[in-house]
Amino acid sequence: MSKIRFWMLKSYHFIYNKLLMNQVALITGASRGIGRGIALELAAVGWDLIINYSNNQAAAEDTVNCSIEHAHKAGHEIRAEICQGDIGQAIDRQRLVDFVRNHFGRVDLLVNNAGITSIGRSDLLEASEENWDALMAINLKGPFFLCQLVGSWMLEQNNLDDSWRGKIINISSISSGAVSTNRGDYCVAKAGLSMVTKLFAARLADAGINVYEVCPGIIASDMTEPVKLKYDKMINDGLTPIRRWGKSSDVGKAVVALAQDYFPFTTGDVFNIDGGFTIRRI
Ligand code: NAP
Repeated sequence: MSKIRFWMLKSYHFIYNKLLMNQVALITGASRGIGRGIALELAAVGWDLIINYSNNQAAAEDTVNCSIEHAHKAGHEIRAEICQGDIGQAIDRQRLVDFVRNHFGRVDLLVNNAGITSIGRSDLLEASEENWDALMAINLKGPFFLCQLVGSWMLEQNNLDDSWRGKIINISSISSGAVSTNRGDYCVAKAGLSMVTKLFAARLADAGINVYEVCPGIIASDMTEPVKLKYDKMINDGLTPIRRWGKSSDVGKAVVALAQDYFPFTTGDVFNIDGGFTIRRI
């Protein structure tokens, strides 16, 4: 590329990014639960959104409509679009990132949120390899390779405008540190996601890209519905110093604070959104 063309492209990007466009967030698994909560909070501060989902198109469309409504109420005009894709599949991950490129032309934030719980919740001594592989593909391999795909694109954006800053946020869990012997695969995947966060944080820091791990505690969602009674009792009995269920908006607000660059001198860090679960008490 000639020098003149490079500078023209740089100036165009600067004006386009700084003056004309909202920032753009790709959120995986945003049709329901925590991902939806993140979408609504980002919409309220004026982010454009790509709402990824796996099966539930109606729920994804509802997230889009509610996000646009949320943004309006807060005085923002945003664009939000759905994009189906199983993040455990390489071909779907590429299609998802191509969709963002073709429809939005930029990406400022990747939230690796999509995840499943341990299939069958079997005891460690009975857990199957088949279920392990299925969970790892979605909860660990998918986020790793999305960090790679989106991180590479973010590097390109930083080359064109070195004042541009990007973020990647991995939604991990208190299960990255706390053991559940009937969900070994889930715990291992979340512990792995902690390392994914540190790896990409170190690799991408020079390009102004901060990478974070957000660890939700016990959050009300479809995932935790089957164990609601168990956790109702544990929370009542003082499992967490803040004695209530977490809400998807609790996680969404934390993501907004990171996305909006309120922690500019941090990367690779863990943010616990867990009502104080991790405090050791005697
Ligand atoms: P959820 O209510 O079950 O929602 C899961 C979301 O992920 C849905 O939008 C679903 O899409 C999507 N999804 C599932 N598999 C996918 C795939 N292969 N590709 C793309 N999207 C997929 O779960 P949640 O409670 O909101 O959990 C969200 C994240 O937070 C997960 O990573 C989970 O491990 C983590 N987390 C949850 C809690 C909690 O207490 N709830 C605590 C700590 C961490 P469809 O609607 O199309 O199925």
